[in-house]
Amino acid sequence: MTPAASTARFEGKVAVVTGGASGIGLQIVRRLVADGARVMIGDLDADAMAAVGGELGDAVAGVATDVGREADVEALVAAAVDWAGPLDLGFNCAGAVKDGLLVDLDVEDWDRVMGVTARGVFLSIKHEARQMIRQGTPGALVTITSINSVTPVHGVTVYNAAKAAAAMVVQNAALELGEHGIRSNAIAPGLIATPMTEYMRSIPAVMDAYMEYAPLGRTGEVDDVASAALFLASDEASWITGVNLLVDGGHRTVGYPNLTKLFEGLGAPADGGA
Ligand code: NAP
Repeated sequence: MTPAASTARFEGKVAVVTGGASGIGLQIVRRLVADGARVMIGDLDADAMAAVGGELGDAVAGVATDVGREADVEALVAAAVDWAGPLDLGFNCAGAVKDGLLVDLDVEDWDRVMGVTARGVFLSIKHEARQMIRQGTPGALVTITSINSVTPVHGVTVYNAAKAAAAMVVQNAALELGEHGIRSNAIAPGLIATPMTEYMRSIPAVMDAYMEYAPLGRTGEVDDVASAALFLASDEASWITGVNLLVDGGHRTVGYPNLTKLFEGLGAPADGGA
């Protein structure tokens, strides 16, 4: 897939991207820099952040951050402002997952995933928005939720629950921050090729089953999500706030097996109306 051409639409803007050292967050960082922004990454992985700096140069910096820790998130936002000036954009991409059936799920795993994926989004939005309110400037926040914020999938109860919570925080932020000129939106991706999904994508039977639910006939790429995220952050989306936009190749529309294959005539190609 060819990445979208760069524009200057974020020239002079300052962004924070949590989880920006890998996968979807990293592609958002690349696209923001290509469009003229300066980006402060907040991620657990210091080596990976250094590698992004090596790739993208002075337009990016990074602070080791655990988004589940309030002091870390406050320090991340402060570091972005010290380094580059008033904060315009916040992209909240950090997330964690734990596989396992509900009846086997430990409280420790529940708390850990909730801590990153739900509390981390709450803390990121809280401190990004506080900074924007303090500055008295408008801003845009984009959070990466998941198709699982609206559709449960077997074996990841805490992830589904954490993403649903994050999607609601995003909407509350839209309600409460609009008066400050701050928009809050989310993207709910389907299956995207990133390190997080590498294991799942390595099992052919799993991918065959997924493709039965893929009207567009493919899984997603990080650029599919980055394109939508940058649109929601841009002035082109100036009257959009509070959405949780599915970017899933139509996956959620397939809520029922395709029975036309089983009934004679129904699955046949159209014959021109004869
Ligand atoms: P990824 O490639 O694993 O990237 C996630 C990044 O977040 C990693 O660099 C990770 O660092 C970092 N991170 C994890 N916990 C953190 C914490 N507590 N504080 C700060 N950073 C932390 O995964 P991805 O697929 O791009 O996922 C990005 C977001 O999209 C996640 O919220 C995920 O739930 C969501 N999402 C992904 C998909 C998909 O199919 N890939 C679909 C729907 C939603 P480490 O590597 O050190 O852990």
